[in-house]
Amino acid sequence: MSAPVLEVTDLVKHFPVQRGLLRRTVAHVKAVDGVSFTVAPGETLCLVGESGCGKSTVARLITRLVEPTGGSIRLGGTDITKLDDAAMVAHRRRVQMVFQDPYASLNPKLRAGDIVAEPLENYEAMGRAEREEAVAAVLKKVGLRAEMMRRFPFEFSGGQRQRLGIARALALRPDLIVADEPVSALDVSVQAQVLNLLVDLQEEFGLSYLFVSHDLGVVEHIGHRIAVMYLGRIVEIGSKDDIVSEPLHPYTKALISAAPIPDPRARREKLVIEGDVPSPLDPPPGCHFHTRCPFAVARCRSEAPALREVRPGWNVACHLVET
Ligand code: SF4
Repeated sequence: MSAPVLEVTDLVKHFPVQRGLLRRTVAHVKAVDGVSFTVAPGETLCLVGESGCGKSTVARLITRLVEPTGGSIRLGGTDITKLDDAAMVAHRRRVQMVFQDPYASLNPKLRAGDIVAEPLENYEAMGRAEREEAVAAVLKKVGLRAEMMRRFPFEFSGGQRQRLGIARALALRPDLIVADEPVSALDVSVQAQVLNLLVDLQEEFGLSYLFVSHDLGVVEHIGHRIAVMYLGRIVEIGSKDDIVSEPLHPYTKALISAAPIPDPRARREKLVIEGDVPSPLDPPPGCHFHTRCPFAVARCRSEAPALREVRPGWNVACHLVET
């Protein structure tokens, strides 16, 4: 088996909560609390969970938009958490990000060609004509015409703007693209086109994706493996087919049972969970899910379940799931 493109081990991010004139730290938001996973070459790992579970923070940690409190992030074998800004330059091109809101993530004052050319200017020694040729080629790869490079972002439709965001991420031929809810702001009819484009680009360039989404329908379309997060921790990780057809963790069961099914004749066992996600400022002790879990036993309230391999390549954090 080839070495992983990305290896995340015990990743932690606690955001301090500061109060008063002296900005004293009075508490910490435990956004990410000991997360570990790998992404293989050419693989799509989907991070799923409700809003506030920490999945977008994981995406930002991996692209170093925020710094971790602890743990390691190995990109192609190098722990990038230990690198200073100068040393990070060589690695930054290997991981690129596609954002949820393509309009907010594109500089409205730049023409499309300049947006895609920006990373090339920063990382590649190219003459102007060569760069323009490279920009036209990458625009074509994402389904945009070369003459569109003269347009500003507001002159594109939502789907075209996301294609532009993908072109910018693709320009440096990264190993890994971290996509944070990349289709959730798009019309349903456009979502499928953008997802198909991501799949085609993966096949052509051997890209790996870390794909963050709250939408299991989208994840079913694009994912090879799924990692389910709840209150900063991974509670289940395994192949998409296994998890979608036979989820083992009670929280995953509830998520899957609430997802719409494309075939109206198909039926899924319903598991409804009550209540809201507790605050990450003060997560419940033991299993974080025990306050909402219909199967919780006394042990769940005091002892955090370890993420254990219960089937080959399938890990679950629940005291009641047997190997
Ligand atoms: Fe539910 Fe207990 Fe399993 Fe947590 S460990 S998911 S509370 S049964």
